[in-house]
Amino acid sequence: MKLATFTTDSSPEPLGGVVDGERVRAFARGADAVRDVLAGTISTEADLGQYALSDVRLLAPIPHPGTIFAIGLNYADHIAEMGHASPQWPTVFLKAANSVTAPSGPIVKPAVVAKLDYEGELMIAIGQGGTAAAYCVADDVTGRDLQGREPQWVRGKGADTFCPFGPWLTTADEVPDPGNLAIRTWVNGELRQNSNTSNLVFGIEALLAFISETCTLRAGDLILTGTPGGVGQGMSPARYLQSGDTVRIEVESLGQIEHSVS
Ligand code: MG
Repeated sequence: MKLATFTTDSSPEPLGGVVDGERVRAFARGADAVRDVLAGTISTEADLGQYALSDVRLLAPIPHPGTIFAIGLNYADHIAEMGHASPQWPTVFLKAANSVTAPSGPIVKPAVVAKLDYEGELMIAIGQGGTAAAYCVADDVTGRDLQGREPQWVRGKGADTFCPFGPWLTTADEVPDPGNLAIRTWVNGELRQNSNTSNLVFGIEALLAFISETCTLRAGDLILTGTPGGVGQGMSPARYLQSGDTVRIEVESLGQIEHSVS
């Protein structure tokens, strides 16, 4: 099942919906509807109206997530391009709630950031019992200058709009092997990242186990699993995002997100 959160011209209040081909059926009102489905507290049976996907505005599938975990340095080629040694344990950090934005963005470059970069990633949405309930596409947008000069990544990774994700959640029953999905990122139509989640250093089960050593994963939590090689900082010379650029990220069978930079 594909679970989306959206608004329409007639419903500025967010709706939770089930995407089927080019249409979406609303099943509940409110920005937390999809999160409530993952928690098992509501069903998707109701029919509150059906819309053409092209007529709705997709929001982040979970606009108000719980904790947003993220994993740094989790593909060998990205570890190399960032000049790090292969880590013994996953590098876990958090992105701030205010970083959440719609899959179409736009992302906004803070004046203090000069080195804005993209990171195409597979995102896990947590369901009942701390399990991987669904998956989607995310951009772990990063201010490299802040990330590099400040020992904590809070500002470099957690700025407003630095976490577009979507376009919808695809439930785990429709993703038989999330550890074998092609992942690609384009900037202004140029292919920059081209890898597969089979190249993750720490796979999905390992990440869930590692995070769960200290944190109880709850329905509505999110995990960004890391980015492959090909980020702007890794190019020679580095090529950072500029106002007007368009970033498109696709993960096999999960769809794609595309956002501009302003
Ligand atoms: Mg990342």
